[in-house]
Amino acid sequence: MSIFNLEKISSLISNSHNILIVSHYDPDGDALGSSIGLYEALNKIKKNCYVYNRDKIPDYLSFIKCRNLINCLSDVPNDLDLIIFVDLNDYERAGSEMEKYMINFKNNILVIDHHQNPKINSTNSLIDTSCSATAILIFKIIDHMQISINKLIATNLLTGIITDTSSFKNSNTNSQSLEIASKLLDFGADLNLINSSIYNDRSIKRIDLEKKILSNFLFDNDSRTGFSYCTLEDYRKTNTTKEDSEGMANYFLHHKEIMIGIFVREIDKKSWKVSLRSNGYIDLSKLANMFGGGGHKNAAGFKYSGEIEDLRKDLNNKIIDEK
Ligand code: 5GP
Ligand code: MN
Repeated sequence: MSIFNLEKISSLISNSHNILIVSHYDPDGDALGSSIGLYEALNKIKKNCYVYNRDKIPDYLSFIKCRNLINCLSDVPNDLDLIIFVDLNDYERAGSEMEKYMINFKNNILVIDHHQNPKINSTNSLIDTSCSATAILIFKIIDHMQISINKLIATNLLTGIITDTSSFKNSNTNSQSLEIASKLLDFGADLNLINSSIYNDRSIKRIDLEKKILSNFLFDNDSRTGFSYCTLEDYRKTNTTKEDSEGMANYFLHHKEIMIGIFVREIDKKSWKVSLRSNGYIDLSKLANMFGGGGHKNAAGFKYSGEIEDLRKDLNNKIIDEK
């Protein structure tokens, strides 16, 4: 990443006043930590800033707070001079309301992201797939703009790094993520708060849901996949939500025979959300792309319409072909 790019992006932000920061729906720790961390930093330099996310903050991230978080674009003033897309590279990832909004938006756009295959056509972008989290790129921008990092900003950004690296266990962990995490701790980031919120905040109901998910589990030795799913009915019967199945694909990956963890949840009748996790077996963003989705080499996803068994077979065949 060149200094020139950081310079260009810093001056674009400095020269804007009414700014909307957007992250992806079903937000994770990086989407929220990065967008709200940036929001807090821009507030410090008196920008008029809003954060948009289609969805609410999930319970396990409820320690991330934002006064100006909006879920509906009609609440945004219409004199925005800059929209910053954070942790996404495709308008679709922010939801259909955002996609429609962008048709008529003619002012500046900035994309700050670490995913592969960008689909937003913008001359202003800071995309670095070697970064473990978008929070790292936000850190670099804030640092370049010489905005001082307080405890709140540091905690938000560290949340992004901790969640996207699964606490430095994923293979996307590198010296840069450890170095910036260390700097964020020096700036006062509350690591205990992050850990206790994201790891020890599960409800006992989750175990009932896990029992259902594990009863659907299948291992395929040819593709080395561990596959399972749950239906809307499973969520209803166990009084749980999609948050309670967070991390299942990664959980399958912890078993040595499994090279790719696949978890699928029903989002509508015969409509599914697929999560893929691996540790360098094949390029999962390429696999997800074949199904119209995207992501990273080791963590990717897509939506699928059809029968769950057809999906499983199709995925296994494509994985065998890729290997
Ligand atoms: P997750 O499995 O946690 O939902 O997503 C894993 C990664 O894949 C994330 O980085 C996310 O951005 C990406 N991803 C998940 N679903 C989709 C999708 O439907 N489309 C695209 N382009 N990326 C996705
Ligand atoms: Mn991310």
